[in-house]
Amino acid sequence: MTGITGVTWHHDYVVNGVPYPLRNRLDWPHDEINDRMLGFTDEESRTSTAVHELGHGVVWLAAGVHVLYLGVGIGPGGQAACASVTQSPQERLARVIGTVAGERAVDRWLRETGRWTPEHAAMAELGAWQDRAYVFACDPQPRPGFGDGEIDYSVLHDLADQALSASWDNILAALPVLLRAGRMTGDQLAACTGLPNTPPRERHVNLRSELVAAQPSGTELRPRP
Ligand SMILES: [Zn+2]
Repeated sequence: MTGITGVTWHHDYVVNGVPYPLRNRLDWPHDEINDRMLGFTDEESRTSTAVHELGHGVVWLAAGVHVLYLGVGIGPGGQAACASVTQSPQERLARVIGTVAGERAVDRWLRETGRWTPEHAAMAELGAWQDRAYVFACDPQPRPGFGDGEIDYSVLHDLADQALSASWDNILAALPVLLRAGRMTGDQLAACTGLPNTPPRERHVNLRSELVAAQPSGTELRPRP
């Protein structure tokens, strides 16, 4: 289905029971997919995860959202968390854009390092299934769709791509630090990027996190019934 922005979404798969449109075509014969099955080494897979988490963390920092921590496991999966400063529409949008920036950071990294294939790009999308669920849980208005909404989800991708362009050097600077340390606090990320970690002004915080345990071995993939 072609969206209003001209992006064609492929509606062939269900991930963990939920329809999961992909903008990169995936023709995959198995019901599970992970980086290793696509030929990535463990190091490449971990680097990809770190880029994803830094996409969240650096874009949040640059937008003035307080970052608590981010990390990469030794296997598939990583985690990043931010605290909401306010519930203002601007801050909510900044949280959403930083959330979408995870998958888009990996897409950019794949291109810049000569690793981009439709399958790897689709994997970057699949690795963001919790992020996309979070975006819809934020109830953004107008509600984005995949070729069928008032605005197209690819508009959020475009906004995330713009934010990433402004922060890409910071992401590349923090990447080896995160890979070495495995985990960074928001303040440590701020120190190595030169961005401020705006303190949360309210005691009430909303945590945005994704847990290593949620992605133990791969993404369960089913052809759409
Ligand atoms: Zn994420």
